[in-house]
Amino acid sequence: MRVHLWLLFFFVIVFPFMYAKTVNAYWKPTYDVVIDVGHGGVDGGTTIKGILEKEINLQFGLELYKELKADSYHVAITRIHDYALSDDYIGRKTSRHQKDLLQRTMIVNSLKPKIFLSLHVNWAKNNRAHGPVVIYQKSDKSLFLAEVIQNHLNRYYQTERNPIKGKNYYLMNHTETASVIVELGFLSNWNDRVMLLDEQKRKEIVNTISSALEEYFTLILIDEVE
Ligand SMILES: [Zn+2]
Repeated sequence: MRVHLWLLFFFVIVFPFMYAKTVNAYWKPTYDVVIDVGHGGVDGGTTIKGILEKEINLQFGLELYKELKADSYHVAITRIHDYALSDDYIGRKTSRHQKDLLQRTMIVNSLKPKIFLSLHVNWAKNNRAHGPVVIYQKSDKSLFLAEVIQNHLNRYYQTERNPIKGKNYYLMNHTETASVIVELGFLSNWNDRVMLLDEQKRKEIVNTISSALEEYFTLILIDEVE
């Protein structure tokens, strides 16, 4: 009788739990790309003549999301509307900026994507400063990804910029994630501004980023196979 009870316990309680855990581990999606849309809500980012960075970031983010989905990538995006991510943060009390960073960090650390790509727009006192700038985190994969994206964008924008090593914006514990910030251009520069607000140009820039990601994934795969 006791044995029966143990068997019953195993098949009714333990086995379904074990099975569920295995299935869950098997089906847990692995994210190729997390698109991080910079700023949002009360945080407009950089601004000029009523144009807000947060809006440009969102337009590019949504377009890139659609493009990568269409190319069958497993992709997530940090926001699809105009709101502050700091509002979602439920941890300890801290500044709004810090909450925003912690919320984005939480997303990347729980999704563990292969790529974390943050979209932003630049601003400089010197209004001649122009072109795309890719900022990378301290890791070989991040540097490599930054170089690939910067090269593709340089070709499109006809610039000759190099990626820049950034301070640790995101406190990530997953070094397997290649993390970059793509500054799409300078809002303070007339040419860049016109470009960033043009629908056709936006499509072309998004295409440029997505072909850079395709090249990165192909090269990384070759590197891992060898
Ligand atoms: Zn920004």
